[in-house]
Amino acid sequence: MGGTRPQRILAADDRAIAEVIRHLDAGGIAAVPTETVYGLAADAANPAAVARLFRTKGRPAANPLIVHVTDREMAARHAAIPPLAERLIARVWPGPLTLVLPKRADAPLAGAVTAGLPSVALRAPDHPVMQAVIRRLGRGVAAPSANVSGRLSPTRAEHVAGLDVPLVLDAGPCRVGLESSVVRVEDDRLVLLRPGSLDAATLAEAAGVPVEAAAAGAGAASPAPEAPGMAFRHYAPRLPLDLDVTEAAPGRFLIGFGAVGGDLNLSPSADVGEAAARLFDALHRADASGAERIGVAPIPEAGAGAAIRDRLRRAAAASGGLP
Ligand code: AMP
Ligand code: MG
Repeated sequence: MGGTRPQRILAADDRAIAEVIRHLDAGGIAAVPTETVYGLAADAANPAAVARLFRTKGRPAANPLIVHVTDREMAARHAAIPPLAERLIARVWPGPLTLVLPKRADAPLAGAVTAGLPSVALRAPDHPVMQAVIRRLGRGVAAPSANVSGRLSPTRAEHVAGLDVPLVLDAGPCRVGLESSVVRVEDDRLVLLRPGSLDAATLAEAAGVPVEAAAAGAGAASPAPEAPGMAFRHYAPRLPLDLDVTEAAPGRFLIGFGAVGGDLNLSPSADVGEAAARLFDALHRADASGAERIGVAPIPEAGAGAAIRDRLRRAAAASGGLP
């Protein structure tokens, strides 16, 4: 699945943004920066473009895509917006929060985007380049992370190298560094389908209601569908990964945090937000280090720590023995 065609990494100036928009408008795909991770973008209304996107990532057809919009108004063309969603949109958008909402029958979306579900996942990204791309294209942009399905997410333009995509818009390292929180809005309930840098307590505060945890694991008995994507392998480094490691060991690249120094430290001052922003880059570096294993220091559950631990648990479960 490695890039066979040459890939151009373009600094995200006006000219490069215009080229990417022309390319997307013509049914192409391109990697674009957001505040969370780099996304692999396609016109969400174009079935051929969306099919190309799934194929390029090797993404299972059953895993629906997030549609990126500029704002509430563009969101309302795609979905019904119940009062709880209005509250979250007013307080958190643009930002790293994806809302799963009832899809409108006339939503301008290729069917594959939502994997046949009656709902659609929407997010307004807080990044000037991605905002410009969506605004000037004038349509929703489907954009999962710009990595081969199951592998590490890209938080720098150069991390996109493994993907067969001709254009990468480079706007430097991503500020947040973790994928968005995904919340399903059901009338008067909120269910957290995927943790992100905005933790459940922050979201509950913004919404004024508690945020419930999704039923754990794949195939869990649940009356409502959970995020289909959480059932698949995710965030796998090439090397096997060990959690909560505090000691250096031969052949093991140690990713430190706080007082656990390591070969590289996610945040010497033990700030989980800083650690989140550096996490995927650290895993990419560990993979390239020549070590045989990766160890990661203990990260507290507070704030973005819960999402970091979620990614690391999935990485540990999925990693090892990859090419
Ligand atoms: P990604 O695009 O890889 O960042 O992942 C998007 C996440 O949102 C995946 O876990 C998807 O399964 C989930 N998702 C997208 N659309 C829906 C939907 N309509 N209902 C529930 N989960 C969704
Ligand atoms: Mg992803």
